[in-house]
Amino acid sequence: MHILVTGGAGFIGSHVVRHFLRTYPDYTVTNLDSLTYAGNLANLRDVEHRPNYRFVKGDITDALFLERLFEEFRFDGVIHLAAESHVDRSIASPVEFVMTNVLGTVNLLNAARRCWAGSFEGKRFYHISTDEVYGSLGSEGMFTEETAYDPHSPYSASKASSDHFVRAWHDTYGLPIVISNCSNNYGSYQFPEKLIPLFINNIRMKKPLPVYGKGENVRDWLWVVDHASAIDAIFHEGVDGETYNIGGHNEWKNIDLILLLCRIMDEKLAREPGESAALITYVTDRAGHDLRYAIDSSKLQRELGWEPSIRFEEGLEKTVAWYLGNQEWLDQVTSGDYRDYYEKMYAAS
Ligand code: NAD
Repeated sequence: MHILVTGGAGFIGSHVVRHFLRTYPDYTVTNLDSLTYAGNLANLRDVEHRPNYRFVKGDITDALFLERLFEEFRFDGVIHLAAESHVDRSIASPVEFVMTNVLGTVNLLNAARRCWAGSFEGKRFYHISTDEVYGSLGSEGMFTEETAYDPHSPYSASKASSDHFVRAWHDTYGLPIVISNCSNNYGSYQFPEKLIPLFINNIRMKKPLPVYGKGENVRDWLWVVDHASAIDAIFHEGVDGETYNIGGHNEWKNIDLILLLCRIMDEKLAREPGESAALITYVTDRAGHDLRYAIDSSKLQRELGWEPSIRFEEGLEKTVAWYLGNQEWLDQVTSGDYRDYYEKMYAAS
């Protein structure tokens, strides 16, 4: 089997590539990534030497390039993760999100459909999406696969749109697709613009920890390694045309998570208790900030037998240990453009 993973140099994509290369040494995995600020080949150093791995630099907004790539390699399956993924950036530059997340997805659907014309037997197009497409919850309830879409940010609107296009290619052309919508991921190799690695890095550097509003927004968190195992289960066992929610049944109010992270960091860095928490700075809330996400992943657990492997507290400890043990990686990704971005996003706060 030859699988195309898009966005394989990013955070989740690199874990998916690693998982497939290690679990299925008889598969060939081609990683297609344009290497935006979020794509980093250093995320794959430990597996890039494998003979069944290939990297191709390319942009999914380029339809002709994709068509040629599919003609050359005749992939059996696609696991599509390439995306612009950061909500704050989507508020600042929404068009890039439409180009990559919507147009890029449609280009990939077209390339797969053309390449597989004649027979879809044994083929699969797997689109990775987010729980943010469902909008915001009050204090009660959970998102299920039947929850109506209600995206609020340019990021979630672009992902919702791409989900609809993927379903349309299934319903209109019969393309064999599956979709999953996952909650917030955490773990190694995450670009430090997202909450957990941003705060680990800031605590390390003794910089302020910018908390939106009062820190009362609630998110469900899943260890990225468990997301990769769920993707494996859905890629192999998921039913054509179906959607699966993925989550950790692990809701945390932002401020509670941040205080836990601060405690772990104080311990690991041998600082005084409370030293990290003293860096917390409340900043103006993000526009259109959804209050609560909670995801019901019982369909995936019931039908495909998937379960998260680790408790959050343990996963967070491992994650902190990874970033502190890989400070060169953090220094590399936080040099150059990152500094300009950081200044622009947080200097005014
Ligand atoms: P990321 O930003 O870390 O990685 C995205 C990757 O896509 C990068 O390697 C980037 O270089 C590549 N890319 C961007 N534009 C491209 C283009 N035009 N052509 C080719 N490659 C391009 O993102 P992530 O956090 O790893 O998320 C991966 C996927 O999972 C996304 O589709 C995202 O919507 C989804 N998702 C993420 C989370 C999360 O918590 N991070 C949760 C649920 C779903």
